[in-house]
Amino acid sequence: MDTLQAPSLHPNLARFLSGSPKKMWLGGKWVESSQGKKFKTYNPATGEVLAEVYEATPTDVNLAVKAAQETFEKGSWPKLNSAEKAKILWKIADLIEKNIDELSQLETLNNGKVLREARYADLPMVIENFRYFAGWTTKISGETFPTTTPYAPKAQAFTYTVREPVGVVAAIVPWNFPLQMAAWKLAPALACGNVVLLKPAEQTPLSTLRLGELMEEAGLPPGTVQILPGGPDTGKALASHPHVDKISFTGSTEVGKEIVKMSAGNLKRVSLELGGKSPHIILADADLDTAIKSAYMGAFYNQGQCCCAGSRVFVEKKVFEAVTEKLVERAKKVRLGPGLDPNTQMGPLVSEEQRNRVEGYIQSGKKEGAKLLCGGDRPSQFKGYFMNPTVFVDVKDEMHIAQEEIFGPVATVLPFDSLEEVIQRANATPYGLAAGVWTKDIKKAFKVTQALRAGIVWINTFNCADPTFPWGGFKQSGWNRETGHEAIRLYTETKAVWVDLN
Ligand code: NAD
Repeated sequence: MDTLQAPSLHPNLARFLSGSPKKMWLGGKWVESSQGKKFKTYNPATGEVLAEVYEATPTDVNLAVKAAQETFEKGSWPKLNSAEKAKILWKIADLIEKNIDELSQLETLNNGKVLREARYADLPMVIENFRYFAGWTTKISGETFPTTTPYAPKAQAFTYTVREPVGVVAAIVPWNFPLQMAAWKLAPALACGNVVLLKPAEQTPLSTLRLGELMEEAGLPPGTVQILPGGPDTGKALASHPHVDKISFTGSTEVGKEIVKMSAGNLKRVSLELGGKSPHIILADADLDTAIKSAYMGAFYNQGQCCCAGSRVFVEKKVFEAVTEKLVERAKKVRLGPGLDPNTQMGPLVSEEQRNRVEGYIQSGKKEGAKLLCGGDRPSQFKGYFMNPTVFVDVKDEMHIAQEEIFGPVATVLPFDSLEEVIQRANATPYGLAAGVWTKDIKKAFKVTQALRAGIVWINTFNCADPTFPWGGFKQSGWNRETGHEAIRLYTETKAVWVDLN
């Protein structure tokens, strides 16, 4: 096998990382934490510290919310002509594109993901999200209504609606797709004229801080976006703040429920993109080679750290042995390594804590009687947070590994006999984010799709997303949809106006 050359680190990265401790972006300025509080952020491929970052304390959150309120009331962004807003959002996209190599390397260094995936999947999605919502700025409009006034039939009125920004939006994002998750919130929230307080995950704050520099360069008016690095305490200060109008949260279902409670104080608008335990269903008549590749990617893409991960692979009994064997063969052949190495097919998990969590699930699977066909352990040659891709069979639907989100490279493969059976079992978790079905029979594909309680269903593919495509889940996978035109509803309020014409 030829060994490809690892790319040399982008020169801008050295500049960016040498500026450690990294400052937060508050009220249009790059500042230290009010109490000088800092935290370390790591390279998960080596376990080494990449940079220190100032942590936004509750005092900083208060300052930022105050600045956001002022910007919303008196600043230029909410009132800016929609075409001018579009130009700035488009310019942000252009600057991200211009700096794509640097940003993808930074994403890989801080999150661990494979550079090819950061460069050719995450970053293009980030760019196109800004462009898609730049297009929306000039198309956010209301409606008119043929008023009936049944209590005064002769009354004359003209009624219409306008969609206005919600106000101060706090966006809390996870670490698995740091820039993408930020862009999914920033682009529509800004397109609708809001001001945004963005809290990146404590594990991966760096690419978002660099994005802040690019937003500044693009001419986004000062204070329109503020970036507040920190962990749960920063998130709690935002979610419970009486002057934050909306929380847009992506993360675990457990924290999502806490966010709902914390938002109750001032009845914030809340949107939630939460966890999943997606079924990936392979029928015997499917193009099996392609379905197996897809099942592999569905379960192990981004080290299995995907909300939509197809971690429950249901395979029709007739082809169960053959599919499982090939899936395990692929998993055993995967080349693990640092994400920056072009030969790497799977990088490390994001943190030691995440690896411990995943290993806890592997132990629980073994203890409950599931059979491990491969993986379940750490590769010995690396210092970072690596895990071998893991496949379990002899799994009962009620086991923890079949019910709970593992968020790591662990697949359970489950045989089934009939469509009715697999539909019932596929739906039998508290989650309902995504699902996949593989078959050449269009009627079967539709039957399964209609019956699945999931926000996203892929037919003969898996893991596809697009800026135009609504993303979100049924049941405990969340509330509302991000991306696509449904996102406009998340960041606007409807104002209904009645004009008396009598
Ligand atoms: P997490 O819930 O632990 O953290 C998410 C964010 O919330 C982080 O920024 C964190 O600092 C913050 N946070 C943590 N505790 C908080 C609290 N009590 N109050 C306020 N903020 C708090 O999730 P994670 O481990 O970072 O990410 C993995 C989870 O995200 C998985 O469950 C995954 O399925 C989910 N996710 C969902 C989607 C989706 O679109 N549905 C996309 C990506 C990730």
